[in-house]
Amino acid sequence: MDDVELAALRAQVTTLEAALTVRQRSIPALPRLDGATPITWRRWQAAPLLSHVDSACEQCAHPGPQQITFGLDSRAGRKPVICYQANRCPACQEVRVYRRDEATTGWPRAVLTEIAYHPSRTEEQ
Ligand SMILES: [Zn+2]
Repeated sequence: MDDVELAALRAQVTTLEAALTVRQRSIPALPRLDGATPITWRRWQAAPLLSHVDSACEQCAHPGPQQITFGLDSRAGRKPVICYQANRCPACQEVRVYRRDEATTGWPRAVLTEIAYHPSRTEEQ
């Protein structure tokens, strides 16, 4: 690799780093606490596609898949348990954060209660 190629690669890395920084900044922050309960979030990942569920975003019609992450109740002295989840549209960054409570009967097994919401950012950019 000569100096010209190296310089071109470095410029490309700089451009990509800048784009990544903008992208990371544009993802809304997830809550660190629910009341006094500290939450540890896992990484965002593509939500599984379910044939009976429309994965398109209601706000911007992005076809999906949505991004999903799970939050652990990480109070000291307890075994961390998944008690939260967040869903995010990869295009407009609308985020809904839920507390998951185990259902006592029937289906679904978890009852979701929305605890935070970040509106769609389609108007920005
Ligand atoms: Zn969207």
